[in-house]
Amino acid sequence: MGEVPPGDQPNANEDSIQVVARFRPLNDSEERAGSKFVVSFPSGKGQEEQFVSIGGKTWQFDHILKPNITQENVYNKAAKNIVKDVLNGYNGTIFAYGQTSSGKTHTMEGVMSDPNLHGIMPRIINDIFQHIYSMEENLEFHIKVSYFEIYMDKIRDLLDVTKVNLAVHEDKNRVTYVKGATERFVSSPEEVFEVIELGKSNRHIAVTNMNEHSSRSHSVFLIQVKQENMETQKKLLGKLYMVDLAGSEKVSKTGAEGTVLDEAKNINKSLSALGNVISALADGNKSHIPYRDSKLTRILQESLGGNARTTIVICCSPASYNEAETKSTLDFGKRAKTIKNVVSVNEELTAEEWKRRYEKEKEKVAKLRIQIEKMEFELNKWRAGDKVSSEDQVQLEMDASTSSSMLNASVTAPLLTTSILEGDAMEWARERERIYHQLDEKDDEIQHQSQLVEKLNEQMLEQEELIASTRRDYETLQADMARQAKENESAKEEVKEVLQALEELAVNYDQKTEEVDRRTKQHEATLDELNAKQAALHAATSELQSVREAQEHQKRRITEMFVAMLKELNEIGAIIGSSNDALKQLSENEGKAEEEFTVTRLYISKMKSEVKNLVQKVGSLDTTSGDLREQISTQEKELQECRLLVSQHEAKVRTLSQNIKDTETKKRALEEQVDCVHHKQVCCKQILQHTEQHHKQVCCKQILQHTEQHHKQLSALRDELTDKQTLISELKDENQRLTVTAEQVRADYDKLKAEVADKSQKLNELVSVQERKEQARQDLKGLEETVAKELQTLHNLRKLFVQDLQARVKKSGTGEESDEAGGSLAQKQKIQFLENNLDQLTKVHKQLVRDNADLRCELPKLEKRLRATMERVKALETALKEAKEGAMKDRKRYQQEVDRIKEAVRQKNLARRSLAAQIAKPIRAGQAPIQAVAMPMSLRGGGGGAGVYQPPSQRRTGPQ
Ligand code: ADP
Ligand code: MG
Repeated sequence: MGEVPPGDQPNANEDSIQVVARFRPLNDSEERAGSKFVVSFPSGKGQEEQFVSIGGKTWQFDHILKPNITQENVYNKAAKNIVKDVLNGYNGTIFAYGQTSSGKTHTMEGVMSDPNLHGIMPRIINDIFQHIYSMEENLEFHIKVSYFEIYMDKIRDLLDVTKVNLAVHEDKNRVTYVKGATERFVSSPEEVFEVIELGKSNRHIAVTNMNEHSSRSHSVFLIQVKQENMETQKKLLGKLYMVDLAGSEKVSKTGAEGTVLDEAKNINKSLSALGNVISALADGNKSHIPYRDSKLTRILQESLGGNARTTIVICCSPASYNEAETKSTLDFGKRAKTIKNVVSVNEELTAEEWKRRYEKEKEKVAKLRIQIEKMEFELNKWRAGDKVSSEDQVQLEMDASTSSSMLNASVTAPLLTTSILEGDAMEWARERERIYHQLDEKDDEIQHQSQLVEKLNEQMLEQEELIASTRRDYETLQADMARQAKENESAKEEVKEVLQALEELAVNYDQKTEEVDRRTKQHEATLDELNAKQAALHAATSELQSVREAQEHQKRRITEMFVAMLKELNEIGAIIGSSNDALKQLSENEGKAEEEFTVTRLYISKMKSEVKNLVQKVGSLDTTSGDLREQISTQEKELQECRLLVSQHEAKVRTLSQNIKDTETKKRALEEQVDCVHHKQVCCKQILQHTEQHHKQVCCKQILQHTEQHHKQLSALRDELTDKQTLISELKDENQRLTVTAEQVRADYDKLKAEVADKSQKLNELVSVQERKEQARQDLKGLEETVAKELQTLHNLRKLFVQDLQARVKKSGTGEESDEAGGSLAQKQKIQFLENNLDQLTKVHKQLVRDNADLRCELPKLEKRLRATMERVKALETALKEAKEGAMKDRKRYQQEVDRIKEAVRQKNLARRSLAAQIAKPIRAGQAPIQAVAMPMSLRGGGGGAGVYQPPSQRRTGPQ
């Protein structure tokens, strides 16, 4: 906006700084310390209260604001006018000066949540918007705000925490501004309050002790109101600085040390720079005003002695304890009061206006040119050594505007007085300008660097956070790993145990299989043995059979022989004594017969023993069979008894049924009788009817007797009948029972019979077995004997053979003996050697076979072990694979997490950047806001947009 420098403005006018002194009440600690209220406010009647006196010294200010004054009155007296000024295109500044806790913040901000305790700032903001709402409709407003603080001579943006060291620059009109400060466009008081809230919260975030920090830093809130008349295109710009300064107390009083002391010095430096500037301005004739000494004075350059309506609120404590400080504060105010500002409207001129101004300037230039010519003429005269009379000397004539422009120019350029036209001063000024320029550049650089540093710091913090999280992840992973290793170890142990158990099992199994083999072998052997035995038995039985047959045969022969012998004996008896030859023959026959006799005797004795055995056996079997027979007979007896009983019972039943039948017939007879009687009764009744009168009585008697008799008989019969029936039922029951028992007995009998049959069969079997055994024994004996005999014969044969051999050997020759013996010896030796070899070989073979068997035994074990190890290896491989996969997954997850965090950080940065970019929100005058979002720029007058600030919580719930 091509504003006009104030000095060049036709409507620029001088205006001294307004100073207001506010005294707060004694606070608690002051009262507790027994401080006295040392301030008095002398005033005349009807006079505006402007005086304050402490210890006899009096100060005068534009307004004195006493301790009991309301916030509203403070606003009305100190700041209300400034709103109009700002809306009319003037610059304005309000700042609070005073020691810590003298009430600066209370005055400037007040209590934001309580509209009654609102300080100057919220009231001004509300008022500005209220004014806008009531202004003409063809005015469009652009309102933007900035908020920053100055701490240790560094400007920190409170709306963007990354901007920590902003530089102060001058625009083309030499007006200072904070370069790069965040500007927020606002369209309602609420938005402004939100910005303030944001700034305050940012301020809180950055520091640990807010009270201390706020007492050592200056906070600056800037609101710029730009308006454009849509009809005339006239543009006005009003800037308003609202500054809450740091505490003005001396360092010694706070007892600060170290960095705190440095801070205090620095803060005091900016404040003393402010004091110096004000002193310089108050002096009035100082050529150089040290605005550049601090950022604070640079920012306030326009407000102090420049183009701004400035109000300073001097905040003081009335306590005796703070007397000295209060006095110095009041002195500061007094000095400041003398400063004169040259204020003008910041107006963007239209072409017409520019033209007019151009003409004016042209005129001025022509005038000045004439003057210069005159001066040159005079100068030449002077140089030529001529004297110029005082009347001829050129008089410097300057109108008000020129003088003011010169006054203004004095800030940055050497004063346009005659003395300053000197070359040296020009040189100096240029040099200063150059240095200032350099300074600005350096400032820029510093700002850039510090911003970079801040960014890096932020990044570092993020990185640290990342590292911490990574470390945490790493730790958890390590813990996991340790756990898994432990698990692995335990699994290994388990596997080992299992392997051991398996080995044991395998060994056991081998042992068992060996045993089984052994057992099967044994079994086979026993089976073989059994078979052999059976075969032997078979053989023995067959032999026995044959022996028996032979026996039979021999028996028969013996009997035949006996018969023959007897016959022969008879014949012999007949022949005896007849011839000697016959005797001789007989004696021969006798020898033969004796032999045969002995044989038969042997047989007989054998048979006898056999028979005896058999008889014994038969006897024992007889006794057992006798026992059994006795048993059978007793059981048969019992059975017979039972049968008898059954027949008896049957007979009883029959008689009883007969009885029943009889009783039934009797009953029927009786019933017939009853019928007869009934019939008779009926007859009698009839007769009675006929012979009613005559025989009535007799008949009645007879009938009665009859009936009585009948009744008696009937009852007796009935009793009998019931008795009989009970008897019948009883008998029936008995019969039932008896039949059941009979059946039982019969079943028992059958069982016993079966048992008997079984037993007799068993007996028979036993007998046969016994017989067989006996026979076998006998056969065996016979066999033994025969074998012995045969052996004897064999022995004899051997003996004979040996004798024969010996005899033959003796008989054989003598010459050939030596040769044969030598050959046989060699052969024998050979054979011996071969045999030895064979023996060794067989031994080796046996050993090998054994080794082979051992190895075979070992083989399955080893195979098992191998398999187990293979499985373990496999399991371990899979576990390894799983672990690797897990690690990969974890890594991926971690990577994703890192990416996510990076993305989030990027987004955040983007968001921050996007926040910085703002679009102007033009506001039309005379329009009240309906809704901030729906209609952010058009605000119509008279709409009654309530511009009173409410805290965010109330705002949310309050009526829209
Ligand atoms: P500063 O900003 O100068 O350090 P503050 O404005 O924070 O001081 O004031 C310090 C304390 O005194 C605050 O609690 C404030 O409420 C209180 N205070 C200041 N001025 C007044 C006043 N005029 N009336 C009542 N209380 C006040
Ligand atoms: Mg404060």
